[in-house]
Amino acid sequence: ELLRDAEANAAEQRDELSLRPQHLREYIGQTPLKEELAVYIAAAKQREEALDHVLLFGPPGLGKTTLAMIIANEMGVHIKTTSGPAIEKPGDLVALLNELEPGDILFIDEIHRIPTNIEEMMYSAMEDYFVDIMVGQGPTARAVHFPLPPFTLIGATTRPGMLSKPLRDRFGIINALQFYTPEELQHIVVRTADILNAPVKPEGAYEVALRSRGTPRIANRLLKRVRDFAQVQGKQAIDKEIVSVGLDKLRVDNRGLDETDHKFLETMIAYYHGGPVGLNTIAANIGEEAETLESMVEPYLLQIGFLQRTPRGRVVTQAAYEHLGISYQEELT
Ligand code: ATP
Repeated sequence: ELLRDAEANAAEQRDELSLRPQHLREYIGQTPLKEELAVYIAAAKQREEALDHVLLFGPPGLGKTTLAMIIANEMGVHIKTTSGPAIEKPGDLVALLNELEPGDILFIDEIHRIPTNIEEMMYSAMEDYFVDIMVGQGPTARAVHFPLPPFTLIGATTRPGMLSKPLRDRFGIINALQFYTPEELQHIVVRTADILNAPVKPEGAYEVALRSRGTPRIANRLLKRVRDFAQVQGKQAIDKEIVSVGLDKLRVDNRGLDETDHKFLETMIAYYHGGPVGLNTIAANIGEEAETLESMVEPYLLQIGFLQRTPRGRVVTQAAYEHLGISYQEELT
């Protein structure tokens, strides 16, 4: 059983690697960001310098990690990846920095979650390429000066607001990733289907795109599931119909909303007349963390205009009522 799990995991990771685009020109969408990065990368290469530090933010699954790897590839340097919570003590950070060669990239996912004392060490590392670390204890403790090669920090976060100002200010390139358009996602789905050797009709790919919450990671996941439905039903290609059937079974509706989204909106409507209601109250009601809702659920609902943020709390919009088939007027009386 364990062995099979391990094999499945390895297969999943191989899939993930082969699905990842390697070059900026293969990276679909995010056009303004790509164009900007292409300039900074070319300029840094001409000067033979490390690229300025980059902060990427946006909801999960939009391709921040993928983009960081592409930047490393385009710069022709190594990339070490880690995440905020994985760096627990100064030694962890020093060990990572110690392995960097000039120009290399350190990628820190969830950078808003690095401990405060480590964040403070990052300041000198980013600005002047050194860290001072304390070794020993009590009276024999002393600071050791540890020079670093010029390197690039790429930080990714779903919650830019949680980043302290001093840390944020040390990034020269700060950019948000946007939700993808259905056309861009369709393109990604066709590309992935091609790599997976799964024949897909253009309308089938578009239907997957419509239901993927503007997010490539979700699009790829849904594609793999509908491929299973198509195969079991003996379909030659993934078409619009099999996508609808499959995704209805997975309870992903035709705007890409899943059960959590439904619970979120329906709770607000049933108990709070659609708001305004505070996020913590909603979270308590549906048994999810407010932080999870804020970074994973709300951004898409805001983007498609199903939810509004007001100073008094969240409000469900008329468009959401209509989508859910609940009368809007009724709630006002
Ligand atoms: P994040 O770090 O923002 O959470 P991520 O980079 O981990 O996201 P992935 O999970 O790597 O996002 O994205 C899932 C898959 O989607 C990738 O393996 C890749 O195949 C594909 N993908 C993501 N963005 C793009 C893109 N812009 N163009 C083509 N494929 C993409």
